[in-house]
Amino acid sequence: MPAVMLLFIGGEWSPAASGKTFAVLDPRTGQEVFRVAEADKEDVDRAVAAARRAFDEGEWSRMSGKQRGKVLLKLAQLIEDNADEMAAIESLDNGKPLVMSKIADIPLSADHFRYYAGWADKLHGKTIPCDNTFGKASRAAQWLPFFAYTLHEPIGVVGQIIPWNFPLLMLAWKVAPALAAGNTIVLKPAEQTPLNALRFAELCAEAGVPNGAINILPGFGPTAGAAICRHPGVDKLAFTGSTEVGRLVMKEASERIVPVTLELGGKSALIIDKHVDVDKAVEDAHFALFFNHGQCCAAGSRTYVHADIYDEFVAKAAARAQRRVVGDPFEEGVEQGPQVDQDQLNKILAYIDVGQREGARMLCGGKRRGDAGYFVEPTVFADVTDQMKIAQEEIFGPVQSILKYHTTEEVIARANKSEYGLASGIISNDVGFVNTVSRSLKAGTVWVNCYNVYDSAVPFGGYRLSGVGRDKGEYALENYTQVKAVYQSLEPNQPWL
Ligand code: NAD
Repeated sequence: MPAVMLLFIGGEWSPAASGKTFAVLDPRTGQEVFRVAEADKEDVDRAVAAARRAFDEGEWSRMSGKQRGKVLLKLAQLIEDNADEMAAIESLDNGKPLVMSKIADIPLSADHFRYYAGWADKLHGKTIPCDNTFGKASRAAQWLPFFAYTLHEPIGVVGQIIPWNFPLLMLAWKVAPALAAGNTIVLKPAEQTPLNALRFAELCAEAGVPNGAINILPGFGPTAGAAICRHPGVDKLAFTGSTEVGRLVMKEASERIVPVTLELGGKSALIIDKHVDVDKAVEDAHFALFFNHGQCCAAGSRTYVHADIYDEFVAKAAARAQRRVVGDPFEEGVEQGPQVDQDQLNKILAYIDVGQREGARMLCGGKRRGDAGYFVEPTVFADVTDQMKIAQEEIFGPVQSILKYHTTEEVIARANKSEYGLASGIISNDVGFVNTVSRSLKAGTVWVNCYNVYDSAVPFGGYRLSGVGRDKGEYALENYTQVKAVYQSLEPNQPWL
């Protein structure tokens, strides 16, 4: 009988009000490994009430930044202390190779809490010298001394909704800055991957995050997710996921006029110049697309290659994809595990079919691997054109699309034609090309001679349909603070008007 994991509300573990549970499946087999309580509106009501109490009456928003920073440091340490276990949970839940969970997801998550621990006592405003212009007008050139200062205050109860592709890291991107600024949180992990969010709740209790300051509600989007977005007690919404759902979240935010941050989908262009070491460029492009099985919002999913090196690049890219080791994520040497679930598997196979029907040249892959679990063969399409669906829509799978270009102006224009604008990359040894292209691309991130680098200090977010606002770095603190201006007369006993 699989274990049942509960909701984390007000510092306590509790079943869903409905008594409902849902299955967590092992993506290697499609078999149920856990059952998790399924949150719905009533549970959201309880969690928001707990977060409200914690914010209005509790210590978290009142304690000094230094004290909050200590708790966040402890959380970072606890994630590191439990890294092996959390890495195993991540790979079981999501299907990513254990080695990637160990070298990327878990350490980056711990780093995020450590980074924002450093910000918690540096969220101060400014003092602004000013005067009273009314006084000047009516008292014939006599200025009254005033000064103003600003306070960066937490917003209140923050509703956060995250996807399944980097379960713990997406949680860290949302939770760490919100907690650092003194907010309280109701967070819904993706229904496919709730496990590490629940393990994280245990670590919060151990680190000394006060009861109610963080509430974790596994559940589904249209029920628990929508209830968080609609709840009148939620003061701010932060969402990472598809553009389609991001639109719904923004609509709900506009109904209640609450601020909203959206990290959405992408169709990122990776531009390979002719002045490159082709072998290295092939490896970079392979990593840009196939990292995390292609399940990256920033995946380099439009690989533009200069005509002079195109044929060589295409042949080597296909050979590299064929060498990619697909298998059980817990086995050594495996580069690619299963996709996260049956829906993603079906969606990817449908795009592969569309790519073939639209006339792209499939060089390798193209099928499901095995008949258990959700494995897809690494697939490479060449001769892709901008009009094809596989060049326009987010596949979110191990499918590389290679497009040919001839001139710099042409490739900039084509790269910018996407309705998305999340990330991009340039591989080139020509500094002039790098400078021209990086300044011309309409994307929130440009990686030059690298890809998928995610430092906690560097902002991440999208232009256009890829989102609103920035996660990470100093910029994310603006998502979770509001500015209060305080004016003060320096001559309180003088008439000021
Ligand atoms: P999704 O939009 O289907 O789901 C994301 C989350 O939203 C899940 O927790 C889901 O339960 C919830 N949700 C679904 N319907 C909802 C509703 N009506 N109201 C409220 N919440 C709802 O996306 P996904 O398939 O889980 O994730 C993949 C998408 O996420 C891709 O488009 C990817 O590009 C994007 N993504 C973006 C970033 C970024 O930083 N820009 C990072 C990771 C993933």
